[in-house]
Amino acid sequence: MMFHVKPQRIQTNSYSVERLQALCASCGVPLSGDDSALLLRHLDLVLSHNESVNLTAVTERAEALRLHVVDSLCVVPAISEFERPDGKLLDLGTGAGFPGIPVSVAAAVDCVLMDSTRKKTDFLSSAVRELGLSDSVSVVNARAEDAARSGEYLMSGVLARAVASLPTLVELSSPLLQRDGLLYCMKAQVEQLELSSGDRAAALCAMSREARLDYALPGGPERRSVIVYRKVGDTPVNLPRRTGMAKKRPLGTR
Ligand code: SAH
Repeated sequence: MMFHVKPQRIQTNSYSVERLQALCASCGVPLSGDDSALLLRHLDLVLSHNESVNLTAVTERAEALRLHVVDSLCVVPAISEFERPDGKLLDLGTGAGFPGIPVSVAAAVDCVLMDSTRKKTDFLSSAVRELGLSDSVSVVNARAEDAARSGEYLMSGVLARAVASLPTLVELSSPLLQRDGLLYCMKAQVEQLELSSGDRAAALCAMSREARLDYALPGGPERRSVIVYRKVGDTPVNLPRRTGMAKKRPLGTR
């Protein structure tokens, strides 16, 4: 009997290791095949747990790859561009692990994933174990204000994607940052009004704007920005304010 062996189809579809590598390369982030496969497995876990945990509104796989994984990786060049003290990054309001997991893998940096929603951090704890990332990534269920009050977190950098306005992010991250540490705010759009409120809040929080980077998200028309703030002094004594205040009554807003 004769067997006809089908040649193995090379995956070049819009949801593949190669596609992810190509998109990342175009934003200046080289990614190995293994790391790329790992990030696809993370996304698979997110999408398969999405019904029970409500992790993302983007459910189409190729779109989720671009809008979550690639979008997360776009901050990596900014992370290597500006000098900051040694130490871990904190992903504040990480949700399903974006941008913290992709950044930790691609930039080879230790990362703490923090979110106030228990269901999300429970999902993340098991995902991190399943992905074999427990040595470099830890998961904390807390509100940023409460974590700051505990004094346990003094980070080299804070990442925040789609979490809050600039004044709120500046205030929440200041007590979590070492002197000279950096806050990277990843934004779909940023208006002048928000930027100037952010800068006024920064002046009250021992923070100072270091840079604004604008770029196109690879593979589509979307524009994105990273606003970088630096911790330039000691944490002011009035921070953190009562939990919830940074969002409810933002500093620096006229
Ligand atoms: N960064 C993720 C999730 C964005 S949704 C992404 O880009 O996909 C915002 C997340 O921030 C939610 O999961 C919410 O629970 C969390 N969050 C909001 N305020 C917070 C706070 N003060 N401390 C910790 N987590 C917070």
